Amino acid sequence: MDDKSNHFDVIVVGGGASGMMTAGISAERGLRVLLLEKNSKLGEKLKITGGGRCNITNDEDDLRTFLSVYKNAEKFLYSAFSQFDKNDTFEFFEKLGLPVVVQARKRCFPKTEKALDVFKVLEKFITKHKVVVKTNSPVTKLVHRQGVVAGVQTSEGVYTARSYVIATGGVSHPETGSTGDGFNWVRKLGHTIQKPNPNIVPLRVKEDWVKNLSGVSLSFMKIYFYLEGERKFDRLGKILFTHFGISGPLILNSAYEVLQLLEKGQVSCRIDSYPDTDAGSLEKKILDVFEKHKNKLLKNIIVDIVPEGLGETVLRATGVSGETKIHSLSREERKKIVRFLKAMPFTIEGSLGYEKAVVSDGGVILTEVDTRDFRSKLFSNLFFTGDMLNINRPSGGYSLQLCWTTGYVVGKSV
Ligand SMILES: Cc1cc2nc3c(=O)[nH]c(=O)nc-3n(C[C@H](O)[C@H](O)[C@H](O)COP(=O)(O)OP(=O)(O)OC[C@H]3O[C@@H](n4cnc5c(N)ncnc54)[C@H](O)[C@@H]3O)c2cc1C
Repeated sequence: MDDKSNHFDVIVVGGGASGMMTAGISAERGLRVLLLEKNSKLGEKLKITGGGRCNITNDEDDLRTFLSVYKNAEKFLYSAFSQFDKNDTFEFFEKLGLPVVVQARKRCFPKTEKALDVFKVLEKFITKHKVVVKTNSPVTKLVHRQGVVAGVQTSEGVYTARSYVIATGGVSHPETGSTGDGFNWVRKLGHTIQKPNPNIVPLRVKEDWVKNLSGVSLSFMKIYFYLEGERKFDRLGKILFTHFGISGPLILNSAYEVLQLLEKGQVSCRIDSYPDTDAGSLEKKILDVFEKHKNKLLKNIIVDIVPEGLGETVLRATGVSGETKIHSLSREERKKIVRFLKAMPFTIEGSLGYEKAVVSDGGVILTEVDTRDFRSKLFSNLFFTGDMLNINRPSGGYSLQLCWTTGYVVGKSV
């Protein structure tokens, strides 16, 4: 099987966003490229990005501000982003016939708002440049000798090349094919793999009554997180309640820090549903409403004083009966309601895990990778892209930009 037809200039393992980008860019240079994918189709994760709309990049203009979201990797990525940044992403997809538009909070989407279209133009791109694509071809190991990778093992035999690109992703949403295979191979080659953690993931809470709130979305909430009762950090934004706990952009982007706290002890949070109003003023507002409806039942008035969707839960969680006439409400009952609205308590039990995580951090540690071209410092013909690298980042298009940038730079370097 080691005949000429099985030898390539470049072998890319993994046909996700970064693998397709690398394969297309290197083939565009005239190189003979093989793209190996274990699924029956390419780009399964790409197709579900951004809720099917694909938040393709972020329109932050200042490069340093853009890079600061990658925390530990800010300096590491500088050279690559000087070669291919978000403006290049705009241009790249525009040239492929898919204009990109900017929406709220600088998030960018294909104009068609279809992740599938992003996939389709990439597929066209690699087809145009004659990338040899083999789906249903799981790689089982990397063959190496004397400091270089010498081939990749598949069920059909060994394929060989001058350069090898590992683009097998991380471990989030494993049903899309990202099962951490690449981490295992390169660990065996001597690379250090930072243990992956679910990141950008909904949080599970202990309190049963959260189930009643499932589907309720509250804008402009402030959430305070505590470790063993000591306040650690707070965030302001939108919270979405789910059957298991809390989600939405604010929670997803806090999850990493919360999970780190959980490793140290018990974590709780309090949600302030009126962050702009202190408890005294809130009580006064409520009293004003009550004054106008003295003879009504609390259950009929509660909707006027709490954020939409919270009414029933406030009554359940505070134990104040909705059948109470407003004029019979005790001062303590009123204060209970105010306290709850200012500090809804939850105990965090954990996250929904890799199955529901948008990304997992972890991966090849950056000190073992060349900043200029994402080449392994241990194997001179081995490269990494996308989620293979140990780079933490928030949601907002930053993960896919990392795929386009690393894919482009590696595609130009192999
Ligand atoms: C639900 C969801 C929504 C998201 N939305 C966004 C978004 O809107 N914006 C954003 O920036 N990011 C988003 N992300 C993150 C983004 O999708 C990932 O960061 C990105 O897809 C990673 O690309 P990759 O090329 O590194 O790896 P992957 O996309 O994970 O691709 C890896 C590929 O390698 C293949 N593979 C694995 N093992 C083998 C093997 N042994 N042999 C052959 N092939 C193998 C897999 O089948 C897979 O096709 C989202 C993620 C999820 C899960």
